[in-house]
Amino acid sequence: AALGPGSYTLRERERHHGAGNYAPLPAVFHRGEGVWLWDVEGRRYLDMMSAYSAVSFGHTHPRLLRALEDQARRLALTSRAFSNDRLPLLLERLCATFGYERALPVNTGLEAVETALKAARKWAYTIKGVPPGQATVIACDGNFHGRSIAIVGLSSNPQYQAGFGPFPPGLQRIPFGDADALEAAITPDTAAFLVEPIQGEGGIVVPPAGYLAHCAEICRHHDVLLIADEVQTGLGRTGRLLACDHEGVRPDGLILGKALGGGLMPVSAFLADRRVMDVFHPGDHGSTFGGNPLGAAVALEVLALLAETRPWEHAERMGERLRRHLADAHLPCIRAIRGRGLLIGIALDPAIAPAAQAAERLLVRGIATRDTHGNVIRLAPPLTITEDELDHGAEWVVETLASFVA
Ligand code: PMP
Repeated sequence: AALGPGSYTLRERERHHGAGNYAPLPAVFHRGEGVWLWDVEGRRYLDMMSAYSAVSFGHTHPRLLRALEDQARRLALTSRAFSNDRLPLLLERLCATFGYERALPVNTGLEAVETALKAARKWAYTIKGVPPGQATVIACDGNFHGRSIAIVGLSSNPQYQAGFGPFPPGLQRIPFGDADALEAAITPDTAAFLVEPIQGEGGIVVPPAGYLAHCAEICRHHDVLLIADEVQTGLGRTGRLLACDHEGVRPDGLILGKALGGGLMPVSAFLADRRVMDVFHPGDHGSTFGGNPLGAAVALEVLALLAETRPWEHAERMGERLRRHLADAHLPCIRAIRGRGLLIGIALDPAIAPAAQAAERLLVRGIATRDTHGNVIRLAPPLTITEDELDHGAEWVVETLASFVA
């Protein structure tokens, strides 16, 4: 009700948008700075979405803007027909930061996942000796890795699949968090196990302690690649540089995206050692925009910021603080508070507080966030959030959720 006519007029003018996306909540944003967003009426909101964890350094970060602007004035795109002078630096930095021999840059998270799946299948064929066309991939129930046909072929969400088949063969699923199920599902044809260390879109689901390490051991034993999708959890979001670091696991393949582009450019990458990456031959894979100088310049600055500010340490403290605020409120509508670092999900009792309705009330209170699967409200502000901003945000969230009474 607090949202003004400007928002409504602009939303009406969105009628030409194909309906594939989620319907946006009724606020039309106009400007961002740090953890704050302003709508076209000038109302201010605390950003608790960070564009699904892509805006980890906050909106309009001065250093990232400068990197973008300097590069845009020099050179933005050459395609992969030629090299550019930013990309080699980014590749070196990616490999040094995460400890891999090779990185393959693409643009979106979905593309990096596809890249990983292609690498895994060709690795199984050329190295592991799986007969042509038989390599399989295992993923988890409740996963979200993107929305291409191959990737939704791995999904357990009926909406993502309905009407979009047929899907490629060789895609399997097991329950998330159950290492024995992985062991049981592996066959000689298994190329890879693809997993989110913490499920994001699935409802901010943290697997049992030791799960990832156990999976890594099983994969090693059966000569199966462990591929971690850290598109959402990576780059400090969960209180470690990578969510895999919580269990000391180094996956055979690492998928990064979202925050790698600083919220300014789509930049993603698949990282692996030569034994996996070298299965690609020139021409096997790539894209016009992958590794473009503009994205590379921004991502380089992101990696520099990561090394200098180690935002995961702050994210860990702020995450604990936010969880404590929520727990101390003892709200009857809260069933569970999940997550790690600043990737937090509040599971609400659907009979008291439908999460979609909670997101609408939060928006009116000045908190921009969305619900996700399992009647969960996501709280994932930029990692740069100050203690003060976090305390205010927590107060507004608690106040809003308290308006739902049994
Ligand atoms: N993997 C994970 C874990 C994600 O959370 C997402 C996006 N929510 C993707 C992949 C897909 O990324 P993109 O939207 O950039 O294609």
